[in-house]
Amino acid sequence: MNHDADRPGLLLSHPACLEHDPRVHSPGHPDTPERLVRLGAALAERNWLGWQRAEAPQLDPERLELVHHAAHVRRVRELCERGGGALDPDTSVVAASWPAALHAAGAAAEMTRALLAGEHRAAFSAIRPAGHHAVADRAMGFCLFNNVAVAAACALLEDGVERVLVLDWDVHAGNGTAEIFRERPDVLLACLHEHGLYPGTGPLHDTGSGAGEGYTLNLPVPPGSEEPLWLALIDEVVLPVARAYAPDLVLVSAGFDAHRLDPLARCRLETESCARIAGRVRALAGELEVPVGVMLEGGYHSEVLAECVCAVLPVLDGAEPPAEQRARSLREDERTLVDAARAQAGLSWPL
Ligand SMILES: [Zn+2]
Repeated sequence: MNHDADRPGLLLSHPACLEHDPRVHSPGHPDTPERLVRLGAALAERNWLGWQRAEAPQLDPERLELVHHAAHVRRVRELCERGGGALDPDTSVVAASWPAALHAAGAAAEMTRALLAGEHRAAFSAIRPAGHHAVADRAMGFCLFNNVAVAAACALLEDGVERVLVLDWDVHAGNGTAEIFRERPDVLLACLHEHGLYPGTGPLHDTGSGAGEGYTLNLPVPPGSEEPLWLALIDEVVLPVARAYAPDLVLVSAGFDAHRLDPLARCRLETESCARIAGRVRALAGELEVPVGVMLEGGYHSEVLAECVCAVLPVLDGAEPPAEQRARSLREDERTLVDAARAQAGLSWPL
């Protein structure tokens, strides 16, 4: 293990994130506070894996306007102030959702600040509500404000930060992040997701537009996809493009809903798969000598979510990922898919 004892990872969270409860207006909603309760208990049992804990500050609501329209911010605040209700068929709030969302976005901003100040080389924000579906002018898919977009936008305000890589490994496409940065080359989004799932965006040929053409890598995979395909797309497409892009900061939208036990999707990653993907990110960041900031997105089997985060954090902090003893070679259909993704990315990048 190559643990950097002087600079352990930074683990940001806030108790306010437990108070956002969509079940009040949408009984049976999968985004439960228990997701974070279970994660906190699992981390506490492991003495927080040696990570340094910090309370996420609230973001000044005006800073949300780095990535959101003022009218959207106002609409969410006013609905929360009235006691809550539905923002869209999947997304509802209670009064406590407003402070929860400000702490979630505040975790993103603080994570970026601490990483770019050199205080930590890895950080993880254990927050909810998640962010990657939130677009500039509305809430979507359990997400109120786009936390990872806030993190990226804050980074780009810092001296010397010109390019940010966002890797979105949540099983759902990060449509919000994609839309917010669609026409910008200063954020490169690499988005793996299960084809056919909510929100239905992110086909392979959508690579961004205008000045951002080529700076979105959409990597849809079929339902049932397993670790070998996910790793091949990362190894053969994401990593070579990321090296060529040479970002100053790596951010991750980390959902754990591509796990085979997750109730909302049909991919078949194992817990160790998440750790191996994290190992790729850690190695990339080490090679580029840049920090890594990870925002929690989805993951709706609470026990699995806790297990995955506990497997990922040590790897982000320098531990070796689990060996790939049982790795199989790609099937022909998987090889075809990876080759198509390489060909698409090769139109914009030297692969
Ligand atoms: Zn998801």
